[in-house]
Amino acid sequence: MTLEIPQGARHILETLLRGGYEAYLVGGCVRDLLRGVPPHDWDICTSARPEETEDCLAGRRMIETGLRHGTVAVLEEGTVCEVTTYRAEGPYSDGRRPDYVRFVSSLEKDLARRDFTMNAMAVDLEGNLRDPFGGMADIRGGLIRCVGEPGRRFREDGLRLMRALRFSAELGYEIEEQTAAAIHENRAMLECVAAERINGELNRLLVGQNVGEVLRRYPDVFCQFWPQLEPLVSLEQNSPWHCWGGWEHTIRGVEAASDHVVLRLAMLLHDIGKPGSRSTDENGVDHFYGHAAAGAQLAGQMLRMLKFDSKTRERVVALVERHDVQIPCQDRAILRWLNRLGEEAFFQLLEVKRADSMGQAPELAGERLAKLEKMRTRAEELIAQGRCFSLKNLAVNGRDVIAAGVAPGPEVGRALNGLLEQVLSGQAPNEREALLKLL
Ligand code: ATP
Ligand code: MG
Repeated sequence: MTLEIPQGARHILETLLRGGYEAYLVGGCVRDLLRGVPPHDWDICTSARPEETEDCLAGRRMIETGLRHGTVAVLEEGTVCEVTTYRAEGPYSDGRRPDYVRFVSSLEKDLARRDFTMNAMAVDLEGNLRDPFGGMADIRGGLIRCVGEPGRRFREDGLRLMRALRFSAELGYEIEEQTAAAIHENRAMLECVAAERINGELNRLLVGQNVGEVLRRYPDVFCQFWPQLEPLVSLEQNSPWHCWGGWEHTIRGVEAASDHVVLRLAMLLHDIGKPGSRSTDENGVDHFYGHAAAGAQLAGQMLRMLKFDSKTRERVVALVERHDVQIPCQDRAILRWLNRLGEEAFFQLLEVKRADSMGQAPELAGERLAKLEKMRTRAEELIAQGRCFSLKNLAVNGRDVIAAGVAPGPEVGRALNGLLEQVLSGQAPNEREALLKLL
């Protein structure tokens, strides 16, 4: 087998071999090479003990942060390789980390501790594949399968559950039946996993090509770390707008949004306020008055729980809160919303509204979609024309205002914002002379 291995990684492998040790590429990079996609990081496993690795590779830049677990990161010709001594893991008593790791003498033992068959393969410099658990066959079949007994593996480390879902979303692979059953059974193991680690996997899962199927099949797992989703998963909506229940509508929205984590999160959470805001009228039709505001609050809590950064959280909350606003397709309204949200968030809101419509009854959504597309085009035109919606393109600036007699200080900002408001509301043209006269 000939594989695209960077020079740096080759040299490290050669150096270890010359030192009399075994050395293989292992894990994710082997999986990706065999799938025919470029790996994003390079892991090497070796029979050399960490001190021996360091001696053998002396002269190169090394980072010893993982030394206790047998890992040395080595920089060689622009490639960073993590070189790890063959190891096995001791018992797991806390559901997240082995109580200890011990170094072992054989590659097979090292491969056996790894999570999924596709991640438990190694390849040497000649391209010889070591694949004791049938990882290659599972890659061909597009299957994610635990190494060993699935229930035991998930009970050792609850993060593996999220990794399985994330790989399924990213690669579009199915989770093998017994592995899938063990995920459902052991979902409570997520209680032991740090929020930051769930967050890391969730981010990658959400932008995966197969995210919809994962949400459809594993709502119980998502409810495990976000119990606030439960009422949405079981929500029925009797409304002419909707031909699906709350969860299927949500999933279709997520699938329709482009693969940006803010948009995917906004779609996942956009209707989270619905179950708590539901009322049914005399004709049996459901209404969800105030669900966007209620949803924004819930979304904020949920994102905080999972330790999302504040920039992501605030943007997602803003989008959830506004996902239902009606923006008339008129220049003045568009400029007003551009002013209120800023350019980036404005276009994200249009995208959220588009994705939301894609999850609604098709016979009614068509008109909404056409209107949104028209609005997007018009907003782009207004921006290209340099139309004024922020202080940046107001025809006067701070210096003009001071020259016109306003005292330097906070009064300048107030004066400028007053003028901007008049321009936005159409009471004044965005022209220097006219604005100076108004002062
Ligand atoms: P990617 O880098 O695309 O996220 P990866 O499989 O390389 O995928 P890493 O987190 O880089 O994931 O881990 C490298 C390898 O370490 C994996 O391929 C797997 O063999 C092993 N591994 C990682 N996390 C675990 C875990 N929680 N349990 C068992 N083995 C794991
Ligand atoms: Mg990796």
